Amino acid sequence: MPENFDTDILVIGGGINGVGIARDAAGRGFRVTLCEQNDLASGTSSASTKLVHGGLRYLEHYAFKLVRAALSEREVLMTAAPHIITPLRFILPHSPGGRPGWLIRLGLFLYDHLGTREKLPGSGNLTLTNSDLGAALNPELKTASYYSDCWVDDSRLVVLNARDAASRGAKILTRTACTSASARDDGNGWDIRLRDTVTGAESVLRAKIVVNAAGPWAEGCLSNVIGEARVTPMRLVKGSHIVVPKMFEHDSAYIFQNPDRRIVFAIPYEGDYTMIGTTDEDFTGDLGNVSPSQEEIDYLCATSNRFFERRITSEDIVWRFAGVRPLLANGAGSAKEATRGYRLDIQNIAGNSVLMSVLGGKITTYRKLAEQAVDQLVRICGRNDEPWTASVPLPGGDIPSGDLKAFMHKKKRAYDWLPGRVVERYVRSYGSEIDKLVGPAEGLDDMGMDFGGGLYEREVQYLINVEWAAKAEDVLWRRTKLGVTGGEAIHEKLNAWFNAGADDEILNAQGDCNEAV
Ligand code: FAD
Repeated sequence: MPENFDTDILVIGGGINGVGIARDAAGRGFRVTLCEQNDLASGTSSASTKLVHGGLRYLEHYAFKLVRAALSEREVLMTAAPHIITPLRFILPHSPGGRPGWLIRLGLFLYDHLGTREKLPGSGNLTLTNSDLGAALNPELKTASYYSDCWVDDSRLVVLNARDAASRGAKILTRTACTSASARDDGNGWDIRLRDTVTGAESVLRAKIVVNAAGPWAEGCLSNVIGEARVTPMRLVKGSHIVVPKMFEHDSAYIFQNPDRRIVFAIPYEGDYTMIGTTDEDFTGDLGNVSPSQEEIDYLCATSNRFFERRITSEDIVWRFAGVRPLLANGAGSAKEATRGYRLDIQNIAGNSVLMSVLGGKITTYRKLAEQAVDQLVRICGRNDEPWTASVPLPGGDIPSGDLKAFMHKKKRAYDWLPGRVVERYVRSYGSEIDKLVGPAEGLDDMGMDFGGGLYEREVQYLINVEWAAKAEDVLWRRTKLGVTGGEAIHEKLNAWFNAGADDEILNAQGDCNEAV
């Protein structure tokens, strides 16, 4: 690489695919800069169903290769981040109008055997009558099948990848939009313009390679930001979720089959809630302003009412959110049939200015996608750095023997002066880095201001110093989910804290994030 490049790779987009690529590339010795126009995971990567899964229903579309790859990733990711990725059992009630028994059995047999599975249990059948698992359901549902996948805290997975990338030298620039990328006339790399979306300040840099990982914005990026690029059309499909007070007492999830053949999950959420989703609706509109439509909400409530005894209406919803899937336009008919696979599209512009666009994908396959992307960049650059991410934990993921239960027990004893629920949340969010967060504190008085809901100033400061949080919403909706669970007052208090002259301090601390990790 010529010395006069500011960075080898500029990654546009701080969603799961962008940070995954930044981490992998930084670990293989590339100089990486990543820009995210808003907060990390502020796009689709915080609005998913939060499953690391093979995707049982994709078997119906004969997507065996995709399902196999996704199934095998489950245990790889679980080992890398056991604090934020945990096994989850799914109960699939046999319902009138649902798939025939033989089809479910065949699907689950394939699901058990297609990909690598050493830790997750296999599938089977059970009776719902007189069982805790059937207690909250419509009594007409008598039997069910079950299988296992994993649950993931999607936005924390993004932040942990960004942190690991930064610890390997990547520069992570949040609230920084790439406004133009022009291939240089000499065919040697790119001239990049960046804009700080808070202050409006502009900057320029020269990059050898551009990776467009802008998710649902990727097509727009090709037409509006990146000069002379061939534009690949994508299919944008919106999906919505609702969160309601918990509908059942156990810690398994449900997968319901609707008569229209769509499936809807009901998943335990943050202890006291149930998350219900998702929908599939073609999307055209403003990607910066995506929310569930009344029609989608009615659909999700009706599905819940079809399967659970307790009826819900829009009034019961404590949180609703929607995201847009960036899918490959593969000519599928309905939105739910569009492929969840991905393509890494490489263009050489003006001779030797390499542009890679990430098109499609899932949270589940982000690590593999990043590995394949960086393998290609390594080849293009004539290097021979080997893949490495399959066996290296993410920050906080090095839990002794991977035993989260034992670790939780130990930390509850060590921090017996903290409320038990707070220690639980710390362990499930920060894993082995809990000690770094608590630092020298020896009692609640050392934790700083109490914002309510178990949020103390020390944690907020940690999120600012180490995880690029810069606003109350970053803390409440993406670094934690205290926006749902923390009560009414927390929003006002935290906003006031951020507004009370903290601005300069926060911006300064932000500058340190890349070094602090
Ligand atoms: P994004 O997360 O959207 O990131 C792209 C980022 O680029 C954005 O943050 C955006 O702000 C930024 N950006 C755009 N333009 C610019 C620019 N010019 N400069 C700087 N930054 C820019 N997958 C699973 O594996 N499991 C699931 O359970 C699951 N459920 C889903 C449910 C729903 C409803 C949806 C919508 C998706 C689901 N997915 C799931 C798919 C998964 O969420 C997405 O594939 C994944 O999050 C896409 O990540 P990304 O990095 O490509 O895009």
